[in-house]
Amino acid sequence: MPVWDDLVGQDKVSAQLDAAARDADALVTAAADGTPPPEASKMTHAWLFTGPPGAGHTTAARAFAAALQCVSPDRALGGSPGCGFCDGCHTTLVGTHADVATVAAVGTQILADDMRDTVRKSFTSPANGRWQVILVEDAERLNEKSANAVLKAVEEPAPRTVWLLCAPSLDDVLPTIRSRCRHVSLLTPSAEAVADMLVRREGVEPEAAVAAARATQGHIDHARRLVTDPRARERRTAVLRLPLRVEDIGGCFKAAQELVDAATEESKQLAEEIDVKETEELKAALGAAQGGRMPRGTAGVMKELEDKQKRRRTRAQRDSLDLALTDLTGFYRDVLVLQLGSRVALANTEVQDALERIARATTPESTLRRIDAIAACREALDRNVPPLLAVEAMTMALRAG
Ligand SMILES: [Zn+2]
Repeated sequence: MPVWDDLVGQDKVSAQLDAAARDADALVTAAADGTPPPEASKMTHAWLFTGPPGAGHTTAARAFAAALQCVSPDRALGGSPGCGFCDGCHTTLVGTHADVATVAAVGTQILADDMRDTVRKSFTSPANGRWQVILVEDAERLNEKSANAVLKAVEEPAPRTVWLLCAPSLDDVLPTIRSRCRHVSLLTPSAEAVADMLVRREGVEPEAAVAAARATQGHIDHARRLVTDPRARERRTAVLRLPLRVEDIGGCFKAAQELVDAATEESKQLAEEIDVKETEELKAALGAAQGGRMPRGTAGVMKELEDKQKRRRTRAQRDSLDLALTDLTGFYRDVLVLQLGSRVALANTEVQDALERIARATTPESTLRRIDAIAACREALDRNVPPLLAVEAMTMALRAG
């Protein structure tokens, strides 16, 4: 069905979700007709979508949500739900369906406050009589309190509520939650599948599509950004120049500072686009007087919004750094490929000269150590080590013999 077209290189997953959506549809039809529900059902009320970053688990969950809300008349004629065009599919895919709630981490965690309304909603019946769908985009960011709220809701679901949780891996979710979920496992899509999507969806020339797909190693969103956003290409070019700039200590510090500055700049751009509009909207809703004076008692609400915006900026900076670290890892992985003479295709052919130069000048052992240093930087950022400190430690380690 058309909704599964958004899944890139995930045939097994499409088949699994298609079967479940059919059974879900049969359940709704049986209830509406007053007939007993079908006995064996592939439908269940809690799902956990896992997959490496960028494989598209949120896209898969959203496509499934659309299929659950599909009201296409073709279903009655034996077709699968998920036409992509009916009101149910369309509003779900664009995020305006009244019975589909999406939860995403604003900052680095999903707080209990962020979840409260959604959890309450999960105990009610859907407005249109089909399914009440709750999609949690980054379930790995649930903190202890919010995870417990989700657990309670998943333990005692309302009859027509479906939870769709997304996380990188099973280990990222509380065992008590995960044991109540049916598991949908996405694989890293092949470079061919990603390139094919870029040609089909973004109208990119095949050659550029293959290069972007290779460069981003199966990360669909990154690949799409690389072919559509010139700023993304500039940032990537700067990151790939870094390994040649860390030859002396001064270069290490300078490169680290620039990497962090670029990430900060990107998060600022994002913030300026969203924050200003959001603040104005809230002020208008609270009834700010002309000249910006806020009515009494609204300071708390404004403060709450400022906190939320601050959390979002921190997260955006972290995401931007994370992307740079992914590109860097790809660079050293290519160096290793050359050093070991393996027949794997290089991801970063545009800097082949630099790859060869570093491959000749260093050993495979030191390349592995550098890849470890990048992973250590990522872990430090996860532990909230100040970004500049973490990145400086990394650039120093990239230099050392
Ligand atoms: Zn539909």
